[in-house]
Amino acid sequence: MHAIDYERALDPAHALRLAQAADTRVIGGGTNLLDLMKGGVERPLRLVDITRVGLADITELPGGGLRIGALARNSDTANHALVRSRYPLLSQALLAGASPQLRNMATMGGNLMQRPRCPYFVDTAFDMCNKRLPGSGCAAREGINRMHAILGASQACIAVNPSDMSVALAALEATVQIAGPRGGRSVPIGDFHRLPGAQPQAETTLAPGELITAVDLPPPAFARHAHYLKVRDRSSYAFALVSVAAALDIADGVVRQARIALGGVAHKPWRVPAAEALLAGHRLDEARSREAAALLVRGAQSFKDNRFKIDLAQRATVSALRRAGEMA
Ligand code: SF4
Repeated sequence: MHAIDYERALDPAHALRLAQAADTRVIGGGTNLLDLMKGGVERPLRLVDITRVGLADITELPGGGLRIGALARNSDTANHALVRSRYPLLSQALLAGASPQLRNMATMGGNLMQRPRCPYFVDTAFDMCNKRLPGSGCAAREGINRMHAILGASQACIAVNPSDMSVALAALEATVQIAGPRGGRSVPIGDFHRLPGAQPQAETTLAPGELITAVDLPPPAFARHAHYLKVRDRSSYAFALVSVAAALDIADGVVRQARIALGGVAHKPWRVPAAEALLAGHRLDEARSREAAALLVRGAQSFKDNRFKIDLAQRATVSALRRAGEMA
């Protein structure tokens, strides 16, 4: 174990200044970072504690959206009256993640920054992992890969993003608010997480020294017809084999707009606009849902242990759409 400097930031500007030093990690709830530090996967020289800088409020935006501070706890967000009534998809996804104890600690910003749970990444006993040791290879390709990607993987890495929350945010087209040394910027959630490509060590487009300050949700269009379906090995405290965030805007029985995001299948939440467009302008039915589901996994490539995910993702999509369509 090496020595780690610890600094407590007093406000967001102070946090940003402290975050500029090399080998610094920002810590909020710490539910993922501390595990990785204990295992020797993350080895920062400095921790900046941002738990007392504010940024935990949930406020209405002009025009009808919602701003959720980066330090809002997952349980507080999931149970917030405005989130439950206007964005039930987000509430459901948050409550499907981790355990109540972890949700009481985990924050919005930290959840967005969750690192993959590939066993070859989180255990330093393995010496082949391009994400942890760039250029070392990918042990999962020929190893145990039941939980791994079927879409968007690369030769370098086949890990999946573990967040439930991010799948719902992808379907809701949230925007991530970021502060940096040269000012702030807004990043659509679809551009926040990365596919692995040749650089799987970078999971997001957050630059070193930048800080997530909030997540913005657009005005709600899917409050009445939304469903988050998570398929996992046990009914709680397990990562998704496959998950689906399905959101429908239905008027007079006709789908005006559809959003479908898959989790557990790629290095980022997976959307296919053509699959969503297929549903728009029609009544929701089983055949069209199956067609959309097939489009979602077009080009899927399985590995030794995860072929079942291609079929599972399609059946879960049809089921999530049906549930979303039935809600009112
Ligand atoms: Fe490492 Fe990615 Fe391969 Fe897992 S899938 S061993 S995280 S490179």
